[in-house]
Amino acid sequence: MVMKPEEIYPGIFKVTQHRSRKIAPPVNIYIIAGSEGLIFDAGYGDNTSLRLVGEAIKYVQSINAKWHISNVLPSHTHPDHFSGLTGLRQHFGITIMLTQKMARVLANPKAYRHSYRLSTLQQYRYSTVFQRISERALQPVFRSMYKRVYGIAFPGSPDRTVCSGEVIAINGFNFDILHGPGHCDDHIMLYDRKEGILFAGDNILRSIYTWLGPPRSDLAQYYSTLAMCLHLPNLQLILSAHGSAIQNPKERIKEIIEYRTLRTKQVYSIVANETDGISFAKLLNILYPRSLQRRWLAKGWIIVTLEYLVNNNILKFEGRKIKANTVDIHAMLKKFLPC
Ligand SMILES: [Zn+2]
Repeated sequence: MVMKPEEIYPGIFKVTQHRSRKIAPPVNIYIIAGSEGLIFDAGYGDNTSLRLVGEAIKYVQSINAKWHISNVLPSHTHPDHFSGLTGLRQHFGITIMLTQKMARVLANPKAYRHSYRLSTLQQYRYSTVFQRISERALQPVFRSMYKRVYGIAFPGSPDRTVCSGEVIAINGFNFDILHGPGHCDDHIMLYDRKEGILFAGDNILRSIYTWLGPPRSDLAQYYSTLAMCLHLPNLQLILSAHGSAIQNPKERIKEIIEYRTLRTKQVYSIVANETDGISFAKLLNILYPRSLQRRWLAKGWIIVTLEYLVNNNILKFEGRKIKANTVDIHAMLKKFLPC
């Protein structure tokens, strides 16, 4: 029996891949039907996930003889979004589209690993020697676990290169490719202005706040991307990579900006309270006193927030100690934050 994908909007179908919930969240794959139909986000690359997308392609093509699903484009190069690329090409003859930036990251495992390497200064500021040694020792274990659970495979060269500013026309839709960094430096989104539909990838999620972490996240860029989305003309509907559709897009974007602003102010206040400065480990402990797991997961957004405040001269590092500059934080943040 063929699993029917959900037609979430006339001509747009959604397939949700489920893996192990703890380490691999459910991810949405969208199929935009047309004579040169597009799969937006490649999802996981294991056999079960690929079979699910294959069945969805078959189903969509069976609805209209003119429909053919020919291309796949990931929103960004996190493993839950690109791992299926190679299998989709191999098993279903789908053409892989990538931006140049994505192609560089996905060229081979070495280039991919390199894109995640922290700078020496970041390593010094945010981790101890012991943490660095144990992380290095555990790396092969994590690598093989991710490869197995996510089905990671590298496509090598793309079949077609696309760039932001380009328009993809499918079955009456005209999708502008928008560069939307912040969560990930090579993140793109698709926007059809006439219908007001935004494929937001991981940038805007309905019920959770997107993960941020170094070295590929950037809070200033994330704020700019959110502001850009907020001002998209005629925005009606957001289809995200995780969770359900967002029917109140502007309200949700404002909520996310407010949440990030609150977190930014919280980090500033903790540092400003410590006149002699504070270490990153202590800051982490104050924010997440109870759970080691939450500390591990949340480390990323705290680093990204610190870098944002340091880059804007609101905080500074003296060695490994973080200190507040004597500024009017509210006036300063007003200058930098979108609302
Ligand atoms: Zn992501």
